[in-house]
Amino acid sequence: MTILSFFTRASRAFNGYPSSSKLLLLCTLSLSGGGVVAYSEAQVDASKTSVQVNEKDCKKKRVVVLGTGWAGISFLKDLDVSAYDVQVVSPRNYFAFTPLLPSVTCGTVEARSIVEPVRNIIKKRNGEIQFWEAECMKIDAANKKLLCRYTVENNLVGNDEFSLEYDYLVIAVGAQVNTFNTPGVLENCHFLKELEDAQKIRRTVIDCFEKAVLPGLSEEERRINLHFVIVGGGPTGVEFAAELHDFVQEDLVNLYPSVKDMVKITVIQSGDHILNMFDERISSFAEQKFQRDGIEVQTGSRVISVSDKEITMKLKAKGEICSVPHGLVVWSTGVETRPFVKDFMGKIGQANRRVLATDEWLRVKGCEDVYALGDCATINQRKVMEDIAAIFKAADKDNSGFLTVEEFKDVIDDILERYPQVEHYLKSKHLRDVTDLMKDSEGNDIDEVDIEGFKLALCQADSQVKNLPATAQVAAQQGAYLSKCFNRKSKWKDNPEGPRRFRGSGRHQFHPFQYKHLGQFAPLGGEQAAAELPGDWVSVGRSTQWLWYSVYASKQVSWRTRVLVVSDWTRRFIFGRDSSRI
Ligand code: FAD
Ligand code: MG
Repeated sequence: MTILSFFTRASRAFNGYPSSSKLLLLCTLSLSGGGVVAYSEAQVDASKTSVQVNEKDCKKKRVVVLGTGWAGISFLKDLDVSAYDVQVVSPRNYFAFTPLLPSVTCGTVEARSIVEPVRNIIKKRNGEIQFWEAECMKIDAANKKLLCRYTVENNLVGNDEFSLEYDYLVIAVGAQVNTFNTPGVLENCHFLKELEDAQKIRRTVIDCFEKAVLPGLSEEERRINLHFVIVGGGPTGVEFAAELHDFVQEDLVNLYPSVKDMVKITVIQSGDHILNMFDERISSFAEQKFQRDGIEVQTGSRVISVSDKEITMKLKAKGEICSVPHGLVVWSTGVETRPFVKDFMGKIGQANRRVLATDEWLRVKGCEDVYALGDCATINQRKVMEDIAAIFKAADKDNSGFLTVEEFKDVIDDILERYPQVEHYLKSKHLRDVTDLMKDSEGNDIDEVDIEGFKLALCQADSQVKNLPATAQVAAQQGAYLSKCFNRKSKWKDNPEGPRRFRGSGRHQFHPFQYKHLGQFAPLGGEQAAAELPGDWVSVGRSTQWLWYSVYASKQVSWRTRVLVVSDWTRRFIFGRDSSRI
């Protein structure tokens, strides 16, 4: 590339964007003080880094954290390590910024730019956390013990298995890819869950192109090698399809001109639309953009098997079965519980559940001192109708058998905090407050209700209970919440801060976890993105892509990864993506 073309390309890339967006990016980079799980970059006090296990105060409660993903790291970031003896177990000795994994599949961002070694994070917490690179195999909740195993296969000397005892256990092990037992998926599909998956996809895409240009292949064979199929039209599948399209159009067609018209990208989705968890406007914007880009979206199709050559699916509308040959299949359809968590669920009476259930304080149901957060767990929200008689009894202070507006108002804050679905219900009905629910059977306002009237007022509220999505945002907020509870455990023992207990006396020790949705992005390629922001706000286009750059730069876990990611983006703008197969 000549100097002139280098500068022409760089300036074209930069000048193509509105100045406000550029300003936003620069401001975010310079001002952002870190992200969801950012930790202090302050210098470490060397005198405190060498705390030995045996020197530790043996009265300290032992906390074992399983997992170094979004939930685990966010928990460790704010935990008061001086109050606990903290041990972390994870088979990955790094934290990976998963929202940028699709960018790693095409080399837009390098793998090492989105990871932070766990030991760096620990070092910055004055070394008072111990990390074991191993995986937990078994949880023995009755004896508060864990069985762990070193997982990397090599011939190192020593025992691979060890056990750990805990006083408190924090399970933050995420989830694994769900194949829905579809034949051939494990053997013939790529996944996009871990960093290694993204690196493998990057190599395989290049392999497909190198294979397609070899001499002696028919045109049909070249086309098959260049047919990329993505199963799953959720955010990850869609973002990967968009990244791949950009990689092909911006870089690979120039390097493999003889096959540039033979590339095909197909997204297979079982539902009627892609991105169906987003606002309708975003999902139709994405579908239109993909249509313009020539990415085929095949909705209403369920994959029934995958072989090394073909993918077979059932078209729901016609009931027909068809097979298409492929060069690469990426399976991105959702997650399921890890086997050792399933085994644990069986032991604590949760065998019939799909996901490990916790209460609103993230405590695992059916066992003491065990907490679970992030993708591996789900909050089992208490239903208001289960407690309706107790709520009525607690609220009816004068035992009159009727609840007046005043008595109702007295307990309203506790009801809204303990049963957030009531607030969602009021919003869905456009009501100002709960007393607006006090109506007689003809819909007229009334001053007091009996138990039947009270039941009638709240009987539909439980329909608004929603499971939280399996996202980094939820996991990070849960980690931060739980560390705050741990830090205040001793202080609040006699000073509870939570809502009143309707079925018992007194108050709950802590406020229950409450999720704040900060919005979500869907990058769609060609420097365009869609965003769903709080307050029913939808934004699409180029400026949204710049907002995406700003937010994801600011959310990086450290200044080191922030600089690496931004320099990778800059490198891509200037030189394009690297197509070497390494
Ligand atoms: P994870 O982050 O998966 O961490 C689990 C940890 O547990 C890992 O460290 C793992 O090594 C460890 N572990 C596994 N097994 C064991 C064991 N037996 N013992 C001990 N440790 C174990 N979310 C968003 O909000 N926004 C996005 O843009 C977004 N994009 C995504 C893109 C991709 C490609 C993917 C895959 C996910 C994306 N997500 C996004 C979802 C997000 O990554 C997850 O919701 C989030 O990682 C969940 O956090 P977690 O801590 O529960 O699990
Ligand atoms: Mg009364």
